[in-house]
Amino acid sequence: MSRIDLHLHTTHSDGSLPPADVLALAAKAHVTALAITDHDIVTGIPEAAAAGAEFGIDVIPGVEISSFNGKSELHILGYYLNWQDPTFSGRLATLRTSRHRRNPLVIERLRALGLDVTYEEVRQLAGTESVGRPHIAQLLMKKNYVTSAKDAFDRYLAEGRLAYVARELPTPAEAIAWIKEAGGVPVLAHPMWTKETGDGLRALVTTLKETGLGGIEVHYSTHTKPQTNQYLDLAKKLDLLVTGGSDFHGLTKPDIDVGIGRGGLKVPEKLLRPLKEAAGRT
Ligand SMILES: [Zn+2]
Ligand SMILES: [Zn+2]
Repeated sequence: MSRIDLHLHTTHSDGSLPPADVLALAAKAHVTALAITDHDIVTGIPEAAAAGAEFGIDVIPGVEISSFNGKSELHILGYYLNWQDPTFSGRLATLRTSRHRRNPLVIERLRALGLDVTYEEVRQLAGTESVGRPHIAQLLMKKNYVTSAKDAFDRYLAEGRLAYVARELPTPAEAIAWIKEAGGVPVLAHPMWTKETGDGLRALVTTLKETGLGGIEVHYSTHTKPQTNQYLDLAKKLDLLVTGGSDFHGLTKPDIDVGIGRGGLKVPEKLLRPLKEAAGRT
């Protein structure tokens, strides 16, 4: 029952486990090849590759870049990229700075609304430099300003709410171009998140293909069977590669397991060769 998993997060971004632990779980799940696709960062790759050599798992260098097309946030995965490329590393560093600028601004807005919270408190609670909105939600809960994380997002943190601050994101065309310039294959992550279906989705993906998109993440932990079939059909029609992965995050998404997602995920090994060929790696 061997399988592959081309979408995994580690402690290098917002996952809860270090790369070596993710590889150990992959070995248990009979995963033969995987890609570490941390958000806007590639520093987990060397540790993953070393553990991969130990477990006999093929580790494909990857990344996941958040972009915005003016309407919705689109995540672009990159595979087989020259992750040590200095231009590419510089671009990722800029993206991370923009992410870090956002959270102190959210705190400022909350303070302006009269809530007694500081950025230092959020950072202590997070225990890492990689502070996110879930950590701010935790602090609001701790201080009894909200009743749950959902309440925090509904009242303050979600798009359009009282303390929402938009991130400065690249366009999908930029994310795609950066991945291609680093020798990688750009793939649209979890198309269900685009909230587009039918003709709308087809138009969106066609536009992305015109800017260099190479594939679609057809197999995904939370895609339903009809969604998977729809994306598979679209990939065929537009002559795009098919990929798949769990989007494992560890404790931050406790219902998703490495390799099998919610239990029913199985990304076929045969998808790897065309991806590798597209990157010119064979
Ligand atoms: Zn994503
Ligand atoms: Zn992801």
